[in-house]
Amino acid sequence: MRIDAVLCRPNECALECIQACQRIHGDNVYIKFDEGDGHPHFENQPCTSCLSCARACPFDAISLDEKRGARRQAKRRARVKIEEDKRPYEVADYFERFPEANMIFARVYKDPSFQHYQKGVYHSSESVVRKRIAGYGRLDLELSIATWKLYDSRFNASDAYDVKQHKSKRPQRRLKADPEILTQHIKRVARFFGASLVGVAKLDRKWIYQTNIEGEPYDIDESIMFAVVMAVEMDYDKINSSPAFAASVATALGYSKMAFLEIELAEYI
Ligand code: SF4
Ligand code: SF4
Repeated sequence: MRIDAVLCRPNECALECIQACQRIHGDNVYIKFDEGDGHPHFENQPCTSCLSCARACPFDAISLDEKRGARRQAKRRARVKIEEDKRPYEVADYFERFPEANMIFARVYKDPSFQHYQKGVYHSSESVVRKRIAGYGRLDLELSIATWKLYDSRFNASDAYDVKQHKSKRPQRRLKADPEILTQHIKRVARFFGASLVGVAKLDRKWIYQTNIEGEPYDIDESIMFAVVMAVEMDYDKINSSPAFAASVATALGYSKMAFLEIELAEYI
């Protein structure tokens, strides 16, 4: 990381760069400003190049040093090329559907051979909290548990999730309208509910688990040919602090927002 000594004006800013690093790394800030220093300086070794300080600086005085900048540029170029090819991933020929119970997070509950079998997600967190490490405090942990709440409770909210059963209580009327107009409308509603991105794609049944976590088949009618795909933006700075609890907070909030969106949009449709 480097600071442009011409652009950097510590007398005119609120040292936003240091505050930004502090938000992620607590007391272990990697950008320092001591009495008598003209400008802040970096302790480059532990610095993660997350660029939070660069984004926070009101005068754009911080940038990646040339070596790291070149590496990031190369990565960005590779990503742009993939986007141009419209192939964000490749699928191996031997890929086939598999049971949801084999998915890594489900194995915690379902697979006695798994080393973390029946251990809660936070089973060792109390010992981490006791170590008093920045980013792993009591409040960080509680925030993480709270943000998972809606996602973790989604199967208890069975009435809300069982769209078919819920709908059968009400008369069903099919709206006759131009599919293009309806699609645009559904996208607007999804964004209103909080989706950051929304699209509609042909349903590729290869991407549906063979069976659910209980070993039951997914009941998706053959007449359903399209899927609504929503993306939820997560907090960039918090994700960058991984593996601190703040990264889990950002992930958890994303999952809980997904649960909310899923219930609301399915009901609306
Ligand atoms: S880098 Fe930016 S935020 Fe940090 S002291 Fe300089 S001007 Fe202020
Ligand atoms: S790049 Fe990230 S870790 Fe490095 S000094 Fe800036 S905020 Fe701190």
